[in-house]
Amino acid sequence: MSRAWLIGAGPGDVELLTLKAVRTLAQADVVLVDDLVNPEVLQFARDDAQIVHVGKRGGQVSTPQPDIVAQMLDHLRAGRSVARLKGGDPFVFGRGGEEQQALQAAGIAVEIVGGITAGIAAPAAIGIPVTHRDHAQGVIFVTGHGAGEHEADWAALAATRMTLVIYMGMRRLNDIADALLAAGMPPDTPCAAIESATRPEQRHVRASLRELAQHVADAGLGSPAIVVIGGVASLGVS
Ligand code: SAH
Repeated sequence: MSRAWLIGAGPGDVELLTLKAVRTLAQADVVLVDDLVNPEVLQFARDDAQIVHVGKRGGQVSTPQPDIVAQMLDHLRAGRSVARLKGGDPFVFGRGGEEQQALQAAGIAVEIVGGITAGIAAPAAIGIPVTHRDHAQGVIFVTGHGAGEHEADWAALAATRMTLVIYMGMRRLNDIADALLAAGMPPDTPCAAIESATRPEQRHVRASLRELAQHVADAGLGSPAIVVIGGVASLGVS
């Protein structure tokens, strides 16, 4: 019987794959690979596996979400086992939940193989413990991508005084910082932005909330990056 897996490939470093990811990847007839998945991960796929890149980086056109699901269904119905490889954890942003729903609606059971999410791995890569108890009662994972009605309620988030870990926040960093400052978050709140965490090209910037957007722009930091805001961002390596 063919099987379907949604597999987290972790933040980049192949050593951060789970044993289960390696084992299931090795069983797949077809591997659909997302953006942000380190290609080195594919060493664990079978030599005869069909590899399909559905991401939009590297000059390729991104495959629309319904087409990805349709491709998976085609393979599964033809009796082929399909591994869907996603960066980080498949259920933390990145639409893994939607793919599970679509497969379930088609009557197909999908197995979830968790991964290490960038929101924890990227801060850790520069020594930031996101829930250090001297600094925060908890951590909030939030997307910076939304605007308008999809915009997070930054004032409400600021009021929690928890660590904020922002995914997909680089393009709107200025607006996000302004919203947090307007909500009364202290301008000297420590922040960090970590680009391409756990990969050889990893870079980061540390700055106060007031200066974060400018320092990130000066350093030319871009996507993929995680932004950490809160007292914990004062910890770790400089
Ligand atoms: N499912 C993924 C997140 C997908 S959303 C996970 O659990 O990590 C894509 C966003 O994740 C990027 O815009 C960026 O904010 C973050 N991201 C993914 N890999 C990253 C990396 N190696 N370094 C920094 N940020 C990363």
